[in-house]
Amino acid sequence: MKRDNSEKLYSEALKLMPAGVNSPVRAFRSVGGTPIFIREGMGSHFIDEDGNNFIDYCMSWGPLIFGHADRDVVETISKTALKGTSFGTPNRHEVELARMVIDAFPSIEKLRFVNSGTEATMSAIRLARGFTGRDKIIKFDGCYHGHADFLLVAAGSGLATFGTPDSAGVTKDNAKDTLIVPFNDIKKLEDTLLKEGMNTAALILEPVPCNYGLILPGEGYLAKVRELCTRYGIVLIFDEVINGFRLALGGAQEYYGIKADLTALGKIIGGGLPVGAYGGRKEIMDKVAPDGPVYQAGTLSGNPLAMAAGIATLKKLSDRSAYARMRKSAAFFREKLKSTLDTYSGKVLFQQLESIFTFSFTDLKSISSVDQIKSCDMKLYARFHFEMLSRGIYLAPSGYEVGFLSTVHSDEDLSKTADAVKESLKLIL
Ligand SMILES: *Cc1c(COP(=O)(O)O)cnc(C)c1O
Repeated sequence: MKRDNSEKLYSEALKLMPAGVNSPVRAFRSVGGTPIFIREGMGSHFIDEDGNNFIDYCMSWGPLIFGHADRDVVETISKTALKGTSFGTPNRHEVELARMVIDAFPSIEKLRFVNSGTEATMSAIRLARGFTGRDKIIKFDGCYHGHADFLLVAAGSGLATFGTPDSAGVTKDNAKDTLIVPFNDIKKLEDTLLKEGMNTAALILEPVPCNYGLILPGEGYLAKVRELCTRYGIVLIFDEVINGFRLALGGAQEYYGIKADLTALGKIIGGGLPVGAYGGRKEIMDKVAPDGPVYQAGTLSGNPLAMAAGIATLKKLSDRSAYARMRKSAAFFREKLKSTLDTYSGKVLFQQLESIFTFSFTDLKSISSVDQIKSCDMKLYARFHFEMLSRGIYLAPSGYEVGFLSTVHSDEDLSKTADAVKESLKLIL
């Protein structure tokens, strides 16, 4: 595989940007080697600066549910751009996209558009605090919600539920109001709420955590979390930045039949452009400025370009056929992988929910906790990643990230990928 142009660009990038990248995992540190620079994408494939062609399962970390350079999305963006990219005034695209999101999510009565998932969760938490007049928030170990200070918090040592900074630059004071609880453990959550429930403004979680491998919520777990939040008057925030419009049109809330008080969205709703949104019950959303006392603003929020990309994407999703299509692809992929996975059973675990999947190197039969993911062999994942890359398959460059199917991954793509999995595992296991 030729890497000359990517390597040349990377050595230049290293002088200009920390680790040569604008988001850490892109630097390939978890899998070793140097990142490849992508020149263009089409459908399920992208091509790097050296002309290597890959089947892509990262899909820009989730937004590209119709694949790269989807015609409908790109044409809508182009047409819209010709009329101006941002006005700093209200525009009709915001109204249209807001209507589409609200129609898909029954729990959302009003929403605000922002420019990233990070802004969406950060603003939702500020709002929950403003609404309840309480300070503490509860976050789950292993759930990622973007990089706001009070969410870059790790579990404290020992029995303490109080969080500690998970990044330099986050103050202890910023971390101290974030309580960390293990996912899928109702008892620990109940214990925490007995002590802190009445001081807690918000509980935030990814209904299906997708940022620390793929963790599936246990039977009835999300319903129990919902019930506890209602009992203590805590604003339940579902971070559906990945789950939303991916598990189903109405996200995890439709998939599991549960309503959040506030929902954070991003990724798919921007159709590949930078968009986030937070929304929920009217009574809570009415506290946002200038109707209410909770400040939140954005120069480029709701700009016509990003809105148009979102509209084009949600329009194509609205008849739900995309979900049926991806479910069929996922079943086909599983079938193609079956004999290989049987051969290496006890060594590699393939987990998949709808169009989200992971390969983990472990003897576990399923993964439902952060500790279980920590026990997986990430060195083997790195070798697997390299072997797959050499065979023209681009998986996320970290064993803690998930893979995404799109509507345009063809049976041929999936067969080719399954063959590459077989050859790669044969070499490394
Ligand atoms: C990606 C992601 C975010 C952050 O979104 P950005 O647009 O990267 O700021 C937040 N929450 C979840 C669940 C995510 O997957």
